[in-house]
Amino acid sequence: MPKPSPIRHLLVVLGDQLNPDSTAFTDFDPKQDRVWMAEVNEESTHIWSSKQRIALFISAMRHFAKELGDSKIPLSYIAFEDPSNSQSLDGELLKAIQAFQPQALIMTAPGDWRVLEKIKGVSKQTGVPLEIREDNYFFSTVREFAEHAKGRKQLRLEYWYRELRKKHSILMEDGQPIGGEWNYDQENRSSFGKEGPPPIPAPLRFKTDAITKEVIRLVNERFANHPGELSASLEGFGWPVTRAQALLVLTDFIKMRLPLYGQFQDAMWTKEPWLFHAHIASALNLKLLSAHEVVNTAQVAFHQGTAPLAAVEGFIRQILGWREYVRGIYWTQMPSYLERNALNANAPLPAFFWNGNTSMNCLQETINQSLNTGYAHHIQRLMVTGLYTLLLGVHPKEVHAWYLSMYVDAVEWVELPNVIGMSQFADGGLMASKPYIATGKYIDRMSNYCKGCQFKPDQSHGQDACPFTTLYWDFLMHHESSMSKNPRMVMQVRNLKRMSDETKAAIQAQAKQHRLSLQP
Ligand code: FAD
Ligand code: SF4
Repeated sequence: MPKPSPIRHLLVVLGDQLNPDSTAFTDFDPKQDRVWMAEVNEESTHIWSSKQRIALFISAMRHFAKELGDSKIPLSYIAFEDPSNSQSLDGELLKAIQAFQPQALIMTAPGDWRVLEKIKGVSKQTGVPLEIREDNYFFSTVREFAEHAKGRKQLRLEYWYRELRKKHSILMEDGQPIGGEWNYDQENRSSFGKEGPPPIPAPLRFKTDAITKEVIRLVNERFANHPGELSASLEGFGWPVTRAQALLVLTDFIKMRLPLYGQFQDAMWTKEPWLFHAHIASALNLKLLSAHEVVNTAQVAFHQGTAPLAAVEGFIRQILGWREYVRGIYWTQMPSYLERNALNANAPLPAFFWNGNTSMNCLQETINQSLNTGYAHHIQRLMVTGLYTLLLGVHPKEVHAWYLSMYVDAVEWVELPNVIGMSQFADGGLMASKPYIATGKYIDRMSNYCKGCQFKPDQSHGQDACPFTTLYWDFLMHHESSMSKNPRMVMQVRNLKRMSDETKAAIQAQAKQHRLSLQP
C-alpha cells in the first residue's frame, strides 16, 4: 500500500467531544486535515466501567463517525474489533502520527486530566505540536473560573452562579434577577407525600438501531464481567446517541417535565427512576447538546409562560451554576484533587455496591436502578449512595471509581468534584461549606423507601436500627472535634452533646456490628 502523504492537522476527537461545530473544527480543511477517533479498551477498564456506560460512549462515537463520513470528512476510526488495535489511546495516536505525519495535532480541551496528559505525552514524544482550543459548549472558561477563585479561601457556587447570570444575562431584567430573587429553593424540593407522585410522563427513549444493537452485542461479549445489565430493549437502553435524538429529549423535557422539575427535584420513589428530571447529562457531557442551547430553551419556556420561574431557575442553576462550577474546580485543583481525603476515610467499598444485594431498601433500589439503567438522579447519588459511603468512611478513591464506572453521564471533570467535594467532603470544605450528612429520617421524608424496609429510620440502635441513623451519630462522634469548628454544623454537634453516654456507647457498638456485617 502506498504511504499516505503528510497532512496539515490531525484532529483528535475523543468519545465525549461529538460536536462537529467544536473549536477543533473551526478551520478544518478536508483537503489537508483529517479527523482521528479511537475505541480503546483502556478507556473502559482504567475504571471498571459499566456496560451501559461503555455502550453509550461507543454507540454515540460510531453514530458521530457515520455523520462525519456522510459529510465526506476524512476520518481514521479505529474500532475495538480491529485486530491491529493496541487498545490504548496513546498507542493508537502514535500509530496515526506515524501514518499521516501531521504538522500539528489539534483538539478541543478534553474533559479528563489523565487523557490530556497522555496526549501531551504523545506530542512531546513525537515532536508534533499540540494545539488545545477552548471548549465553546460551556458558558465559562477555566481561566475565568481561576480568576473568580483567586484569593478566595472557600469557593461557593452562589457567587459564581450570580456572576455568570449577570455576564450572560440569563433570567435578568435591568441588571436584577427576574422575580427579584436569585434562588427559589424554598418553593422547590418537596417530597411526594403519602399519596405518591402525580402522573409521570413517560421519558423519551429511543429504539436501538443497527449500530447500537451491534455495540450492545459487542459490549456484552467483550465486557461480560463489567457491572450492570445491558439489553437492546427499549427499557434496556434508550439513551440518545445522536444530536438529533438529544434535541428531542431536551424538547420533551422542557414541555413535559420542566414545570414540575423544581418542585420534585429532590423527591424519590420506589420503581420510579425517571421522575421529573431531564436525563440530559449524558448528552451534554458527550457534547451532543451545548449548555447554551439547554439554558436558552429553558429560559424561553419561562418567557412563554409554559414553566414557572422557580422550576426554570432551579434547572438553570444546575447547568449554568453547578455544572460550570464543578468544571472550574476540577481543572483548577487537578491532579492533587484526586488524592484528597480530609476525613481520613479508609474503609473499603461494600461489595453490594456492585450487585445491589443489601437489605437496606434505599440502597437496594438506588443501586439496582443504577445497574439496570446507568442512571440515578442527584439526590439518589448524594443522599443515598453518597451519604452511606460518607457515613461509613469509605476511601474517597473507591467511591470515585464506583461513580465513574456506574453512570452513563460519568466523565471525570464532573464526577470527581461531585464525589470528592460535594458528596464525601474529602476536600475539607473547598467546594461545600459542610458535609451533606443526615439520618435515615431524611430519606424517609423524601421517599417511600423506608416503608418497604426492615429497618426503622428513627432508630439509632437496637435490632431495627436504620444503619444510616446509626452511622450518622457514629460519624458525628468520630469527627466531633473538627465538626464543632464548622459554624454550619453547630446544631448537629449540639444535638450530639445532649445524648447520654449510654446511648452513645450503644450506637458505637451498633455501628461496629454493622461494619462487621459488611466484611466478606
Ligand atoms: P437533572 O436533575 O435533570 O439536572 C439537569 C442537568 O443539570 C444535568 O443533566 C446536569 O448536566 C446538570 N447538573 C445537575 N446537578 C449537577 C451537579 N451537581 N454537577 C454538575 N452538573 C449538574 N453529573 C454528571 O453529569 N456526571 C457525573 O458523573 C456525575 N456524578 C455525580 C456524582 C455524585 C456523587 C453526585 C452527587 C452528583 C453527580 N452528578 C454527575 C450530578 C447530577 O447528579 C447529575 O448531573 C444528574 O443526576 C444527571 O441527571 P439529569 O440529566 O436527569 O439531571
Ligand atoms: Fe434506608 Fe434506613 Fe430507610 Fe431502610 S430505614 S430505607 S436503610 S433510610
